[in-house]
Amino acid sequence: MQHPQYLRAKVGDHLEIGPGAPLVIQTMCNTHTSDVEATVAQCLELAGAGAQMVRITVPGLADIPALRDIRDRLRAAGCDVPLVADIHFSSATALEAAKIVGKVRINPGNFHPDHETARREFARFLEVCREHGTAVRVGLNHGSLGKYITDLYGNTPEAMALAAMEWLEICIEAQFFNVVVSLKASNTVVMVQAYRELMRRMQERGYVFPLHLGVTEAGNGEPGRIKSCIGIGTLLREGIGNTLRVSLTEPPAAELPVAAYLAARYGDSPMPELSPAERRILDAACEWGPALLCREIDEIPASAGLDEHLSDEIMQGARRRFYRPEYIACPGCGRTMYDLQGSFEQVKARTAHLKGMVIAVMGCIVNGPGEMADADWGYVGEGGGKVSIYRKGQPVLRHIPDSEAIDRLLELIEKD
Ligand code: SF4
Repeated sequence: MQHPQYLRAKVGDHLEIGPGAPLVIQTMCNTHTSDVEATVAQCLELAGAGAQMVRITVPGLADIPALRDIRDRLRAAGCDVPLVADIHFSSATALEAAKIVGKVRINPGNFHPDHETARREFARFLEVCREHGTAVRVGLNHGSLGKYITDLYGNTPEAMALAAMEWLEICIEAQFFNVVVSLKASNTVVMVQAYRELMRRMQERGYVFPLHLGVTEAGNGEPGRIKSCIGIGTLLREGIGNTLRVSLTEPPAAELPVAAYLAARYGDSPMPELSPAERRILDAACEWGPALLCREIDEIPASAGLDEHLSDEIMQGARRRFYRPEYIACPGCGRTMYDLQGSFEQVKARTAHLKGMVIAVMGCIVNGPGEMADADWGYVGEGGGKVSIYRKGQPVLRHIPDSEAIDRLLELIEKD
């Protein structure tokens, strides 16, 4: 095997991501991008709270002027936090966003339904990024790999790594190396296996691109923090990962102390101030979760002194024992058109007895259904006060008023 080349990405004028650089923490706005005032205010808040990059969803070409305006207003306010545009399904939008922001996150597989066209569009996109000094994140999530990949390789961690390698080959061919890769999943075991497999394949290929880590749709509160610590912490303790986002179904600023904790625990950055309760949860999750996930231990020893609830949550986050339903909930973003956080709380309260079931609550109908790959049941906000309910990835009820949606979900589960 040739000696691999470990690459670094550069975002904006100063931020470096890769080996030798500090772990970079980031988050994402949940404002509507067309609401420039609100998005600028949230970017300023997040940058002030320690975010080193802030991602903004850009649903289509119509949002490009707002994106430019947001960038200009931030710079005018003296805030130089690099912005990342989050693009799905529109290569035309990605091409325009690449001229404005420091980094663009795409899943090139959904650039076009025809795979060969998607490959050509991706190569064209790289040239625009090269011209404008823009970094790229190839972001493939479990559940949104696309039919071409799942037909070829299934929906496995290996398929995720192979899909990423296909796009990285195009980058290598184009000699475009300003690239970061992510392979997120809500299942911590799948997520860890996917990143390990990708690392192995990149090393074999001779080019190791920086990795963005995250447990996607981790939910909120204690379970969301624990799952994130287990997935991200397992990889960081193996030396895998260069930037991270802790995705929580909470206001985005709440993600940053957890991300900063992980960056401090596994890197060189200073430990953030945390409440003793939060510190206890994060310490316990990082101490015992990776060892459970890697099957180095089968139980948390009594000598750890954890209460039963915290032990149970860590066992479930590491997927060793399930004592309640498994919830998948996206953090929400500019595509979210309903009260995601409130609906998630209600769904949790009404389904807490359904031990072992996997229930997803997702913020939008565009990406939500694809992203909740593992869910038995899905509750997806359509916008306009309407919700769709999915069973095993298929819609079973559409356009239900959100005031009725939880009752209808429970009826369906009972009937099942
Ligand atoms: S699934 Fe959630 S986080 Fe993903 S694009 Fe939709 S609203 Fe945003």
